[in-house]
Amino acid sequence: MKKECEFCKISNRKLNTNDYFEKLVLWKNYVSQGIFKFIKGDTSLKNLEEEIYNENKYVYYHYFECKCGKK
Ligand SMILES: [Zn+2]
Repeated sequence: MKKECEFCKISNRKLNTNDYFEKLVLWKNYVSQGIFKFIKGDTSLKNLEEEIYNENKYVYYHYFECKCGKK
């Protein structure tokens, strides 16, 4: 197993919704910087903030691949 780098170690933490929203903003920044690659998720990143705001679901899964190779 590869060692986590400074960017992806945060994604292993268990997140509550508020936490997740905060991290998502961070991850989206990473994606736009090319550090993370968005693989798949329950919703598109674009719709996610709206969905969480509406509280349609409690749990969301999104998968990112980090530039270090960790998913
Ligand atoms: Zn990484």
